[in-house]
Amino acid sequence: MDGFIREFLRELNFGQGVALSFSSINDQYLALARTVRHYLMARWLGTLRRQFETQAKGVAYLSAEYLLGRQLGNALLATGLTDIVEEGLAKCGIDLATLRAQEVEPGLGNGGLGRLAACFIDSLATMSVPCVGYGIRYEYGIFRQTFEDGRQVEQPDNWLALGSPWEFPHPEAAQIVNFAGHTETYEEDGTVRSRWIPGWSVQAIPYNYMVPGYQNGRVNTLRLWSAVATNAFDLRIFNSGDYAEAVRAQTFAENISKVLYPEDSTPQGKELRLQQQYFFVSASIHDFIDNVLPADFDLTHLPDRVIFQLNDTHPVIGVPELMRVLVDEKDFDWDDAWEITKKCFAYTCHTLLPEALEVWSVDLLGRLLPRHLEIIYRINDEFLDEVRERFGDDELRIRRMSIIAEHPERSVRMAYLATVAGSKVNGVAELHSQLLRDKVLPDFDEFYPGKFINVTNGVTPRRFIRLANPALSELITDALGVGWLTDLERLRELEPYAEDEEFKERFRAVKAHNKRRLSRVLVDRDGTSVDDDHLLDVMVKRLHEYKRQTLKLLHIVTLYDRITSGEVKPADIVPRTFIFGAKAAPGYRMAKEIIHLINAVGSVVNADPAVEGRLKVLFPPNYNVTLAEKVIPAADLSEQISLAGKEASGTGNMKFALNGALTIGTDDGANIEIRELVGDDNFFLFGLLEPEVEALYAKGYVPSSFYESDEGLHRAIDMIARGTFSGGDRGVFDGLVSNLLYDDRFMALADYRAYIDAQDEVDKAYLDEDRWTRSAILNVARTGFFSSDRSMRNYIDRIWHTPPSF
Ligand SMILES: *Cc1c(COP(=O)(O)O)cnc(C)c1O
Repeated sequence: MDGFIREFLRELNFGQGVALSFSSINDQYLALARTVRHYLMARWLGTLRRQFETQAKGVAYLSAEYLLGRQLGNALLATGLTDIVEEGLAKCGIDLATLRAQEVEPGLGNGGLGRLAACFIDSLATMSVPCVGYGIRYEYGIFRQTFEDGRQVEQPDNWLALGSPWEFPHPEAAQIVNFAGHTETYEEDGTVRSRWIPGWSVQAIPYNYMVPGYQNGRVNTLRLWSAVATNAFDLRIFNSGDYAEAVRAQTFAENISKVLYPEDSTPQGKELRLQQQYFFVSASIHDFIDNVLPADFDLTHLPDRVIFQLNDTHPVIGVPELMRVLVDEKDFDWDDAWEITKKCFAYTCHTLLPEALEVWSVDLLGRLLPRHLEIIYRINDEFLDEVRERFGDDELRIRRMSIIAEHPERSVRMAYLATVAGSKVNGVAELHSQLLRDKVLPDFDEFYPGKFINVTNGVTPRRFIRLANPALSELITDALGVGWLTDLERLRELEPYAEDEEFKERFRAVKAHNKRRLSRVLVDRDGTSVDDDHLLDVMVKRLHEYKRQTLKLLHIVTLYDRITSGEVKPADIVPRTFIFGAKAAPGYRMAKEIIHLINAVGSVVNADPAVEGRLKVLFPPNYNVTLAEKVIPAADLSEQISLAGKEASGTGNMKFALNGALTIGTDDGANIEIRELVGDDNFFLFGLLEPEVEALYAKGYVPSSFYESDEGLHRAIDMIARGTFSGGDRGVFDGLVSNLLYDDRFMALADYRAYIDAQDEVDKAYLDEDRWTRSAILNVARTGFFSSDRSMRNYIDRIWHTPPSF
């Protein structure tokens, strides 16, 4: 510990340039972060050296998003230094928790997809599997959400403002990324070759982050790219003497990594977004070839050294990029290059929503990446020839399967390109993978037997159990001993404790402790609080109509109606605190109206004395990983209520179950697998099944008929329409109400009654404290399957074939 104190003070004095007595909390946080990273440094260098020596096959995980969460706690956990640091700091009169709270989380992702990438690289490091994560170092991550009069307002997320001690910039290892221009052909040794004459270029500067394994001496690398103007740019402008033009050019280049697009599941075909995608993928592929492989490496053997995993379609432009590198730059012939490329990529699909499947107009792609468009056309031509060979001139099939869509405008279907190029294509939960094969890409499934597989998502237990829930972790360790954190199926051994009175009592104490901890956080940040004796009912996730936050609202309004109409006395209802957490894409109007309505319902319900404090609606702004780590361990009830067939997997659902919340959920995504594991008695299932949803769409869904025939629903919707939550103003939620009554794409009204009935069952179950605790313990005991370590094992066995390397 004395060693630690010495190092910490050294960093404070010589790194930060302040004396302890004059140092700010930020000084102390930065000094601590640098001290802790020193402890990881030898392991990092060792990992890199061994990696280079063994040349073992590794994963290059390509993801436009990494929703990392705070780093300090995880680094302390990985090194096993938490206790020493806590004591050492205390000797200096410093509280570790205060310094941890100083860290601004890097919000370089929107939601589930970005968080999944972060969980996966954590698991790979912990399992000693070689992996480089590649992505973008957005200067502004996901916006910071505030509310004004209940409406969402977006503030820039200036996460770098107070210093970023976890990153290592390497400007000397910059890559040049080219754009635009034209292509030309030329002859060389009797063969016609193509080359790209780019119109402009930017530099990609790598920033390395440590990805420490859990107490295993391994540190993998996350490499995020930042865009700056090229030196050529600077020079030209310097010479021209046009300062304004110089600055404009610089700004133009640096725009590429300026900001994360805040759309989750609804990408917009914006040029800058394509620039971002190509920027990071091109830099990453070149980086791997130039810096990870030895100088004399024969690229014929590339598939023995790397698998590029495409996290959704965002990095799919990497497929024609690798082809271009092999054919145009490294003189491979086309067929050999294609054989290599097909083995080097695998693709994970994250959605079923048609609006989320990325397409790029041929016009835009041709302007920005003319050579890549030619390559895509050739890939498509050869692919469609193969299809013709198999199925004859089945023109309908050809049109369905073409990578190039003709309507509404000529465009490239990135999911098709990824499917043709990928050695495997995986969905992210059993149902999703099945629907992917049956509904989204059936022709491809028929054409490529065995290519489509499932790997159910997972979450890292290091962050989402050990760091987020120390009290539960201690209870588990007391029962099972150590080792469960890297072998999560061992949670099964908790099953007998579901009948153990003393354990149950301690389990309840853990929940109560976590509720008080959350309450303190909410008092500090928002001046709100959670009541000890309330059922804590939580719905935290991105705001999207398919996730159906409105259905949750209709439940709350119904309970409020039961009280205000005198149908029930407040004293006779189970007291509940509802917590919402959700950001809406800034341009998604309906999502923003829903946020406004949640806040409006909250202000009325929370202030109405008739409720007698038995219902409380909280909506802490700016849901992020940091808040998730506090909210999830406190929850009693997890709301996973998407319309069946729409949520690919969900990972929030897994975090809640692992922390001992019971799920109320539809038969959707990974909910299905959670329910199968925990058992029907420990899960509140409701709602239409996916085939029933399809049948209802086919028959013609009329939401207003549900409104007409269900009195509770009628009354709830009327309350909203009448202005109960808008000071009598009927216009405010007009758009939302008519959307529900006349469109309701995601069938909230069709599932309303089943949902209310299931919630009434929840109330009954909660009153039986003993039964509830038993179910909560069984949720923990039976969901070890959802460790991202297991997901990674599945990817390794079924897709990557990258064994651990020590
Ligand atoms: C886990 C997580 C998500 C994903 O939640 P879902 O309920 O699966 O959509 C989104 N945001 C954050 C901050 C998370 O930690």
